[in-house]
Amino acid sequence: MRGVYAGVVLAYVNGELCAPEAARVSPFDRGYLFADGVYEALRVTMAGAGAGGDPRVVAPHRHVRRLARSLGALSIPWPAGEMLTVAKQLIEGSRLSEALIYFQVTRGVPGLAGRAPQALRTHVPPAGLTPTVFAFIRPMPRLDTAELAPPTKRCATGADMRWLRCDIKSIALLGNVLASVQAAGAGAEEAILLRSTPLGRVASEGSLTNLAVVRADGVLMTPALESASILPGITREILLDNNTDLAEGVVTEADLRAAREVMLLGTTAAVTAVTHLDGAPVHDGGAGPITRRLHAGLMELVARAGEDI
Ligand code: PLP
Repeated sequence: MRGVYAGVVLAYVNGELCAPEAARVSPFDRGYLFADGVYEALRVTMAGAGAGGDPRVVAPHRHVRRLARSLGALSIPWPAGEMLTVAKQLIEGSRLSEALIYFQVTRGVPGLAGRAPQALRTHVPPAGLTPTVFAFIRPMPRLDTAELAPPTKRCATGADMRWLRCDIKSIALLGNVLASVQAAGAGAEEAILLRSTPLGRVASEGSLTNLAVVRADGVLMTPALESASILPGITREILLDNNTDLAEGVVTEADLRAAREVMLLGTTAAVTAVTHLDGAPVHDGGAGPITRRLHAGLMELVARAGEDI
């Protein structure tokens, strides 16, 4: 079932697997009109499965918990645990063993039956909508858990112009898109976002990832959820649960610029070393020792994991 869309091999819409080019949703869906929906990105891997093992989602229950939280914040009634059933269908249907699953739930399409026509586009959603569920799976390079060297990226700082509920994994990502475009224009691969807060200008996260730094005084720190409006990333959460020296706190712009090491944390990024910030080398333009340790530790956890980490 290979589709014409580059790399996307199988899609899912409202209970049915389909070829990507056959996937259809209504433009009246509130996800399309208002970005009224949430999403997750799941890593599928064979790492740690052993000979004859099956591909599996990394940290499935953490992703389900976060999806439930995002859905709850929007009062979209959908059972988050169902995401894993859909993931299983996509894995089995595509036969991919190293992959990324994109999964989104939007509030749905207001039907007109018995409703005033303006109900098609009102901010307050009409009651009783059926959520629209869309997902796809695409191949990823093999997650090499024996590979100890972290990936690297050149980054540029940019203004964090996003809203104050970035804790919700909302499909509304225009702030991230604009920051990414600006960073790309500056020759960088990702933006690191700076937000003005009552505590001064602080680093919040990457445009696709969470952030951690080794400050000039040697303290390893990731921005606290309450220090700026950021996503509670699953990778960040796993690292916090498994590294007692990783502290949560305020990372100021000055901390970021003076940092010995800067890293990006995410499902696809793992622990990525930032080698350059606004053109200036970080840690002499290579991955530093703490970044290497965190990355190797994460890979070991993924390889060891049975059901969940
Ligand atoms: N922050 C932002 C803005 C993201 O888009 C992502 C990943 O999509 C993350 C952080 C990392 O989250 P996770 O580790 O759950 O992939």
